[in-house]
Amino acid sequence: MKQWMIGVDIGGTKIAVSLGNRKGKLLGKKVFSAEGGKKRRESMRRIRLAIADLLSVNQLTSRQVLGIGVAVPGAIDSQRSMILKSPNLPSWEHFSIAPVLKRVFHVPVFVENDANAAALGERYFGSGRGVGNFLYVTVSTGIGSGIVANGELLRGEGGSAGEIGHMTIVPNGIHCDCGKRGCLEAYASGTAIGKAVQRAIRKGAKPAYFKKMRLSNITGQTVTEAARAGDQLAIQARQKAADFLGIGLANVINLLNPRCLILGGGVMEHVEHFWEPMMKAVRREAWPMAFRNCKVLRSRLGNNVGDLGALALVLEGEK
Ligand SMILES: [Zn+2]
Repeated sequence: MKQWMIGVDIGGTKIAVSLGNRKGKLLGKKVFSAEGGKKRRESMRRIRLAIADLLSVNQLTSRQVLGIGVAVPGAIDSQRSMILKSPNLPSWEHFSIAPVLKRVFHVPVFVENDANAAALGERYFGSGRGVGNFLYVTVSTGIGSGIVANGELLRGEGGSAGEIGHMTIVPNGIHCDCGKRGCLEAYASGTAIGKAVQRAIRKGAKPAYFKKMRLSNITGQTVTEAARAGDQLAIQARQKAADFLGIGLANVINLLNPRCLILGGGVMEHVEHFWEPMMKAVRREAWPMAFRNCKVLRSRLGNNVGDLGALALVLEGEK
């Protein structure tokens, strides 16, 4: 039986190519810059080289490979071979990646949105194993989710199901990168947390921790560090964002009645000053009947969720 699978996780800043088996054990991984998504040809060349390299180092040929799974941060067409829209990777839009890799390696290629892929990663290798109804929610620079309903990935009519980052959380609120106002992502993502502190400083707050820092260098990550060092403005910014996220998650629980929500992404790496206010909001806003059956968990796949998600696409594809 063919044991091995290749995962290609294309992100806005970096691309990871990994080799793994059916159980989600990673045998090797290569990471390189995505060139800001501008140089698609160069990135494709490096993806092909990385795959060939991983195979040869492990003394494998593509005959022993079940398939290649490709996760991309954007909308995928219904045949799941073409990248329709990807604000972070403009040069990849309307590009069919599957036929190119198929031609070189002669194995099936499966392309999927990255949040959906991560949900499948949880389904095959993580806390979603054996769970029929759950969501994987990533809280990072943006907020996205992949929904598994009745054991199947819920893609929706045009493939955009799960965009919880763009549910309206504040009418006429802060501008979101998507063009709308008041989206959850504009209040609860890592980016939003950084911007909230920037706004407070512009309005006259003078937190000592950020005294020597340029406004533009204040990000979700630096706010986390500041909060861990005890900075009150940073702690409040995280608590406020966590409250908004909790409201969003409660809406999702009310809508879908899932068994669990699995949370991942950079913001979830350090949950002090975040998890508690988030759960408080979930309890406050969720319908008790639905909340009673729902566990809210942190992903245990950690930094490998992208790679395992890409690998899971192959298992899902051959089903
Ligand atoms: Zn939005």
